[in-house]
Amino acid sequence: ETKMKKLIAGNWKMNGSLAANEALVKAMLEGLQGAEPAADMALCAPAPYLAQLQSLLQGSPIAWGAQDVSAHEQGAYTGEVSVAMLKEFGCRYAIVGHSERRQYHGETDEVVAAKAQRALAAGVTPIVCVGETLAQREAGETEAVVKRQLAAAIHTVGHCITEIVVAYEPVWAIGTGKTATPEMAQAVHAVLRAQLAAATTHPKRVHILYGGSMNAANAASLLAQPDIDGGLIGGASLKAADFLQIVASAR
Ligand code: PEP
Repeated sequence: ETKMKKLIAGNWKMNGSLAANEALVKAMLEGLQGAEPAADMALCAPAPYLAQLQSLLQGSPIAWGAQDVSAHEQGAYTGEVSVAMLKEFGCRYAIVGHSERRQYHGETDEVVAAKAQRALAAGVTPIVCVGETLAQREAGETEAVVKRQLAAAIHTVGHCITEIVVAYEPVWAIGTGKTATPEMAQAVHAVLRAQLAAATTHPKRVHILYGGSMNAANAASLLAQPDIDGGLIGGASLKAADFLQIVASAR
């Protein structure tokens, strides 16, 4: 199999404004001019800004996506956004099961798997987030936690598992400035790869991203690990130069 490009996906979280987004995206696109990008790229924005990203990024090398998607098709689900709506605004990706949604919105493994399934069925690639808390790591439960989280997705999407993106995001590393060492991250990625290998004959087709305080300074060493196929970038995706430096590190 030919080696696939790495994927660098930004997660803006609940940040931005029309003016700030435009400046940020334009700076990114300017910085990308000339050379072939070293990685595939995506930006995941708050839902109200997806139309803006569609107009700014259409025809560019940067794809865009949402930070969540409903597990339901349509109907009486106040506040939710359906995958059909995301499709209308050109989304290629939807993050599902981000730790902030698991923590603050009570999303269970089953809900996250249902969201992934709903996205896949509509042709939107779910970025399924898994990761242990600090207490779980200290209790030696890291492997069991991430395996349980990924197992729910595998169980629900079946043979479509090669079409998802997995993001390993240790909760203690998100937004904290504490990054997993490349070795720590690689060890978990290898566990996830082995789990995928039990579910599909093409486990290497699945991008397994690392997320958690990845930045311009630490990206290269993380992305050099054999089972780290890209990054999910929070804070550093709000700065064009940092995001582009991470992309350039993905060779
Ligand atoms: C994230 O929220 O997905 C993330 C990785 O955030 P940060 O890069 O800011 O730690």
